[in-house]
Amino acid sequence: MYCLFVSHCVLAQCVMAEGRVKTHPSMVEPVVRFCLENSVNIMQMPCPETRHAGLERQPRGKGWYEAHGLRSSAAAIAEGQAEYMGQLVASGSTILGVAAIEFSPACAVHYLNRGSRIVPGTGIYIEELRRALLEHDLDVPIVGISPRWPAKAKKDLTALLPAVVS
Ligand code: SF4
Repeated sequence: MYCLFVSHCVLAQCVMAEGRVKTHPSMVEPVVRFCLENSVNIMQMPCPETRHAGLERQPRGKGWYEAHGLRSSAAAIAEGQAEYMGQLVASGSTILGVAAIEFSPACAVHYLNRGSRIVPGTGIYIEELRRALLEHDLDVPIVGISPRWPAKAKKDLTALLPAVVS
């Protein structure tokens, strides 16, 4: 069985910070479509920002969340998810990867926002998830998804498949 771990808002855009739902009112379609078309189980990870700052929160940058303690709660979530992945692998499932949302101070994989600019950077949760995966000896690719870049999302997710099929 294939499994893809996804940022919580991939399946529930309503948890995003105020004003951040831009392209999809409910789910991030390229990710859901990929899973449906390839019989992939969708494993929804908890939302670090919501757990830490609640549902009704203003958009904040990585520096603000770093200074306000997100790292420790993100580390706890990451540890739980890595442990869960280990259990799934032990029970015979294949973890295809993690699909996380770019520009989030928690979930970004390659890109963050700085004002109106896009800058290279990784979110706090993904940093902690990488650390937890290493500690659990799990080699799981992490793909950065932006709802604004559906073609890239499809290409990057599809690239996860041949590695386990061949
Ligand atoms: S912290 Fe992650 S899961 Fe939560 S809204 Fe931001 S990108 Fe989505």
